[in-house]
Amino acid sequence: MQTIAERLQSAYVRIEQATDNAHRPRNSVKLLAVSKTKPVSDISQAYEAGHRLFGENYVQEGVEKIIQLQQLSDIEWHMIGPIQSNKTKLVAEHFDWVQSLDRAKIARRLNEQRPANLPPLNCCIQVNINDEASKSGIPPNQLPELVEIVEPLPHLTLRGLMAIPKANMDAVEQETTLSMLEELFGEYRTKLSNFDTLSVGMSDDVEAAIQHGSTMVRIGTAIFGARN
Ligand SMILES: *Cc1c(COP(=O)(O)O)cnc(C)c1O
Repeated sequence: MQTIAERLQSAYVRIEQATDNAHRPRNSVKLLAVSKTKPVSDISQAYEAGHRLFGENYVQEGVEKIIQLQQLSDIEWHMIGPIQSNKTKLVAEHFDWVQSLDRAKIARRLNEQRPANLPPLNCCIQVNINDEASKSGIPPNQLPELVEIVEPLPHLTLRGLMAIPKANMDAVEQETTLSMLEELFGEYRTKLSNFDTLSVGMSDDVEAAIQHGSTMVRIGTAIFGARN
């Protein structure tokens, strides 16, 4: 049995090898440890091992953990699951990032509800890059409109894009998908000063995503073990 610290170390090594292979700087890709369904004791172990970036999918569960671990004040908490409008206040009050932004209404509510004593909420717009009915996110052609709404909101900082590419694609389809994302990201990165995050890449496609400009990969099971 490997410890959480050992599994985290393997994930870091995997990312380093992928950035080396892509001729990118080693610190250009961050690791988001996805702790959904896992107990705070697991998060504490990862924290002890030096990790600071954690992702949660469910608002209520995430907020409970954030409150329980509030003495670990340098954790950066990322919301990566769908957000209903009756949950925006909790998200605005407790999270540091929202990667799953895909509606103007949610953006406006988060902006209104972000407490004045906190820095702006970092946001990524989620893009449904393979047009899957089962996935959240906007189609790429709606991106300009949503960017235009989110960018000026004073209590949000638009940091980039997040996507969950389709599972089990063949190499050609994966290449096409990741290239599309890379291109979309590049377009806005040159125009918007804080736009520096492309959150793509999970257990199966870390290497391919890093080849295509990912700046943040999201890994859960390989660090914390299988979910029930
Ligand atoms: C659960 C989840 C992950 C991590 O998935 P694993 O298969 O556990 O590595 C990454 N991104 C999102 C959006 C998720 O919901």
